[in-house]
Amino acid sequence: MNLADRLRTAAERLGGRTVLTLDRTDLAYRALDLWSARVAALLRRRGIGPGDRVAVMLPNVPEFAVVYYGALRAGAIVVPLDPLLKRREIAAFLGDCAARLVVAWHACAEAVESGTAGTRTDYLFVVPGEFHRLLREERPDRAVAPAAAGDTAVILYSAGTTGRPRGIELTHGNLGSNAAAVARVQALGVDDVLLGALPLYHAFGLTCTLNAAVHAGARLTLMPRFEPERALEVIRRDGVTVFQGVPSMYIALLDLPGAADLSLLRVCVSGGAPLPLDVLRAYRTRFGCVIFEGYGLSETSPVAASNRGGAGHRPGSIGRPVPGVAMRVVDERGREAPPGEIGEIAVRGPNVMKGYWNDPEGTAEAVRDGWFHTGDLGRVDADGFFFLVGRRREVIIRGGYTVYPREVEEVLYEHPAVRQAAVVGVPHPELGEEVAAVVAVRARVPPEELRDFVRERVAAYKFPRLVRLVDELPTGPTGKIIKRALRLPAAPAAVPP
Ligand code: AMP
Repeated sequence: MNLADRLRTAAERLGGRTVLTLDRTDLAYRALDLWSARVAALLRRRGIGPGDRVAVMLPNVPEFAVVYYGALRAGAIVVPLDPLLKRREIAAFLGDCAARLVVAWHACAEAVESGTAGTRTDYLFVVPGEFHRLLREERPDRAVAPAAAGDTAVILYSAGTTGRPRGIELTHGNLGSNAAAVARVQALGVDDVLLGALPLYHAFGLTCTLNAAVHAGARLTLMPRFEPERALEVIRRDGVTVFQGVPSMYIALLDLPGAADLSLLRVCVSGGAPLPLDVLRAYRTRFGCVIFEGYGLSETSPVAASNRGGAGHRPGSIGRPVPGVAMRVVDERGREAPPGEIGEIAVRGPNVMKGYWNDPEGTAEAVRDGWFHTGDLGRVDADGFFFLVGRRREVIIRGGYTVYPREVEEVLYEHPAVRQAAVVGVPHPELGEEVAAVVAVRARVPPEELRDFVRERVAAYKFPRLVRLVDELPTGPTGKIIKRALRLPAAPAAVPP
């Protein structure tokens, strides 16, 4: 289960077949293997070896894969970072993992230079063309540093930038087994073409696009930035068969005017955030393609559950655990809850992280008896399909009644004017919390209309009495709505005594 070995054996088997495409340029398996051997040589020459941390701060370009596999080949631990990070975040992450080197995109030069000033972390900038000239001077070092399944391959930092940085340690076994599970669920093969629109520095993109493609010997066509028109073009041009995205990507595709022929698309998967049922339905009508929703977290490498074809699909659910993974719903005491009851979702399997970097206490709190406690709330039905109701932290308690934001958001999405919706609790002097909605709309609509639309469809304690309209909701790198960054409607003032 050594990830670098995976690439080497794929290259032996598939040689001249394309592994990566960017625009109209293809990179063959053999070439990726060779370039990564050059990176390994460069790193070794700089004294970087097994267990050393090498940060990779690159967009979705072939160089990401070249550096990723090169560093793994040298036995280093890869620390993928968002190229949009600012100086302070870069300094915090690199300092936390004591990175020896950061290989960064040229556009990040200023932030990286200032973020590494006065530290022991070296940097190397990737300027297309120049980087290749630099690597050409290296004699490829084809040796693959041995790595056991339990050896750390990657440290992922969560997007949250407040407080102490939290690194998630994922092993070769974690990532390799999850890529294999994804390849199996999606029946990936050498003739598949995956769209690489998810950022590779995030677990979803790393495992489900890059690692899964290499596992299956498939081809990945990269998009450094997701733009819906461009995505349709690439899907048609390269004959994309597998599209894995986040709900905001599907919503953006639906917002495009006109028709599109996506008949080659065999698999569409959504994860990372709730997929509104209305989007699933509209997408099927418009593009003739079913979106299979999946679920996971960076801590689970990331895929824990997924819908799949035939009897394996239940719209509105996150599907069933992927092969080799077990999932259950537990109550506050950690006991398994019966079907239908809401509790915390726990995951066990080869995909569960080794732990939080340098944080044995945090690890012991999250992983108990082999079960990773996700902080997500949900239920399981009698057929083993799981349904999410929201994050534990985001549940709203209004006057003693529990409101699950997901349920209210689903109703808002049924309104034709709603493009994005987030339901949150705001402090209320008598009720503790009041239900509020922040909504991005397609067409002008009075906030009261949205409030009443929900009021007619749910119990009285659930509908949002406060509705704020905005142009756009703040989202993270994978399109997840960042609720803590929302501009909330004004909270009701305390009633004067
Ligand atoms: P991350 O670690 O950044 O990948 O984020 C993981 C979180 O994304 C999970 O804890 C969930 O709250 C959320 N998430 C992932 N998949 C889904 C999904 N299909 N529906 C709703 N939330 C999801």
